[in-house]
Amino acid sequence: MTSYLIVNARVFDGSGTPAVPAEVLVEDNRIAVVAERVPDERRAGAEVVDGGGAVLMPGLVDGHAHLGFGSTVEHTSNRREPEEEKSLLIAHCGRVMLDHGFTSCYSGGNRMPQAEASARKAFAEGWLPGPRLRSASWEGSAGMVSPGHYDFPGIDNRESDPQSIRDFVNAMADLGVDIVKVSLTGESAVVAGTSRVMQFTEEEVAVAAETARERGVWLTAHAHSAEAVTMAVRHGIRAVYHATFADDEAIEALTEARDRVFVAPTPGIIWAHLNDQEHPATEGMETQATFESICRVAPELYKRGVRLVIGGDYGFALNPIGRNARDLRLFVEWFGLSPAEALRCAHEFGGQIMDMGDELGLVREGYLADLLLVDGDPTQDISLMEDPANFSLIMKDGQIHKLDPDRRRDRVAAGG
Ligand SMILES: [Zn+2]
Repeated sequence: MTSYLIVNARVFDGSGTPAVPAEVLVEDNRIAVVAERVPDERRAGAEVVDGGGAVLMPGLVDGHAHLGFGSTVEHTSNRREPEEEKSLLIAHCGRVMLDHGFTSCYSGGNRMPQAEASARKAFAEGWLPGPRLRSASWEGSAGMVSPGHYDFPGIDNRESDPQSIRDFVNAMADLGVDIVKVSLTGESAVVAGTSRVMQFTEEEVAVAAETARERGVWLTAHAHSAEAVTMAVRHGIRAVYHATFADDEAIEALTEARDRVFVAPTPGIIWAHLNDQEHPATEGMETQATFESICRVAPELYKRGVRLVIGGDYGFALNPIGRNARDLRLFVEWFGLSPAEALRCAHEFGGQIMDMGDELGLVREGYLADLLLVDGDPTQDISLMEDPANFSLIMKDGQIHKLDPDRRRDRVAAGG
């Protein structure tokens, strides 16, 4: 058995309560002991990591990332690579996420779902570095044309076609994805003025929900408009992305469903558009309206106990993988959460959106050993999370992905 003893750290357990001095013993892939001092008989033989007064916290969980868009802080994708290269980029994105402290990722959609499912396997089996992954389908849109086809024509000029969405959900379930993603609205940042245009009929969404239940996959809705948010809730869709223009009724619907729904308000991509000097946002992109509305909606949802998760559509060239922790800062600066509350969205709620809330997302005895040591106090200064140079330890599933050599101490002698 491999064991690690982390000493001289303050433990932020991921639930939002303040960090407290504690030692943590990891045995194999689980947190075995969290205590003021781990008893002598348990310490024997453990490799020691000196926390150096840093904060020890759970690994981060991103609830809305796109490994398939292929751009990271190390590499910019032109989105036109051959399929084989795109597959490699998915793996590349996973490694960059892990380097930045993200030990889990709930995918926001991938136009190569089979490749993403393979990446999930590779990361889980440990032969490629990457986060625990919930893998997703491609993003189904009106008419179900083909992966990567985004034109958002809406429902006005076509017949309702429930069979097409049943076939889609079944085909994706056959590939073994965890999540089927449907774009209930368009996206103004991609096609001007479509964020509030419905892309599926009530009947189609009902069939998607029914098929997903039959096949044991989760649904995620891309939903900017109030109408789309309430429709998602009405049909039991598990994750709602954006929720930008939620009105009182939509906020109330999410509130009533708060025990079964997660919301990713996705500020990161808005920030990226607002700060894109090269391509300033055009009127049709609705960037300013999106920004203003989500800054009203997200705090309201949080106040009502709706579980928000971080994840800002990272993966685009202007919003690359590796910047994911910016969402934590935007949860504080834009939505008014405290740093500890923002971290809870990435930890406790992150574990829950992964459907592993009883073993992931907290520093607790029996939980999986996904851990970060962060220099400084991120519960005071959340921006510390954006620079991986502050992470002296990144551990996933009890395996060290990164350890600052200065923090390595001699093994505790066997027998005490
Ligand atoms: Zn997305």
